[in-house]
Amino acid sequence: MQELRAGKISAVANVFLTIVKVFAGVFVNSTALIADGIHSLIDILGSVLVWMGIKISRKPPDELHPYGHIKAESLAELSVGLIIVFSSLAIMHEAILSLIERSIPEFEFYALGVALLSAVVNEILARYKIRVGLETKSSSLIAEGKHSRVDVLSSLSVFVGLTFVRFGYWWLDPIVAIVISVLILQTGLGILKNSIDSLMDKVDLEMIVKIRFIVERVEGVEGVEFVGVRGTWKAKIVEVQISVNPGMSAETIDVVEREIEERIRHAIPEVVRIVVVTKVKRQIVVAIPEDGYGFYTGEIDSPYFTIANISKEETYRVENPHYGAERMKGFLIAEFLKDHNVNVLIVNRIGEGARSHLKSKGIIVRFGEGERVEDVLSLLKDHERTRL
Ligand SMILES: [Zn+2]
Repeated sequence: MQELRAGKISAVANVFLTIVKVFAGVFVNSTALIADGIHSLIDILGSVLVWMGIKISRKPPDELHPYGHIKAESLAELSVGLIIVFSSLAIMHEAILSLIERSIPEFEFYALGVALLSAVVNEILARYKIRVGLETKSSSLIAEGKHSRVDVLSSLSVFVGLTFVRFGYWWLDPIVAIVISVLILQTGLGILKNSIDSLMDKVDLEMIVKIRFIVERVEGVEGVEFVGVRGTWKAKIVEVQISVNPGMSAETIDVVEREIEERIRHAIPEVVRIVVVTKVKRQIVVAIPEDGYGFYTGEIDSPYFTIANISKEETYRVENPHYGAERMKGFLIAEFLKDHNVNVLIVNRIGEGARSHLKSKGIIVRFGEGERVEDVLSLLKDHERTRL
């Protein structure tokens, strides 16, 4: 709530500045003051946008926004960045014009006083907003704080410029304005970059490394396949994909996932949501029919099979007990391969019956290439490697 109050106070202060500047400007007939008043009017808009952004960002997820509304803050930050960039360009444009046209600004005591008042009010606002922004990790409020500080600079440049005019150095007024406008432009571009990074889900590499370190150390985690973080400074969504060994029960997987969530939440308090995806590591066990001398036959009805566990790099040869069987050959061989934990059978020819028996045991059929079993196997491994 603190940051919402800061947004409101900022808006009210800018309304006050606008009224003072415009009234004073009309009263003493000063275009400089009226122009400054219009700037404060835009500042009200900035304050209101940030206030709205913070308010919307706090809304809980709903049906149409399952990830919540946290990016509203980045959008507010983006608009503040745009306001600053445009105001710097406007100051630059104005200054260059007055240099070219040698238009000497009139020295006005009122303008001097109002510029000073504006600088003081904006400096107080800047300090307040940046402090609250840091405390509440609100990037849009910090952007607004920087905006107020930028306005301090532009008011001071008016003050300094008018003082130079008073002493006859009229051309120093636009020069000061140009220097200040470059500083303002830098601030604006920095804020724009920050907001775009957040909108584009650019990750903080340090945080990714930290999360990976945490997840890797949770017992039961075999590998960390993916770590992603998105959101804003104060509200982050973490996505983690891990792999576990086959045979881990659903209950144990649940325990592992909860442990990961708890440790991440503990280490990074700004995390609002954690998604853990667990993949059971695949064990690929292939059966390659052969003749007993290491030559690939390409047919399910072969005297031997080479059984290779690709994940574990284990290979052995078994005799096919159903070689040449008269009846139920497909069914019997499917049973036999299943007992050896095979899930891929390599053949070049296979009947529909045998294929459906294999399928019912969870064994898929792939075509092999090569003369010797090693050739078939090495091609298969290459294929796996490129696929994984
Ligand atoms: Zn401003």
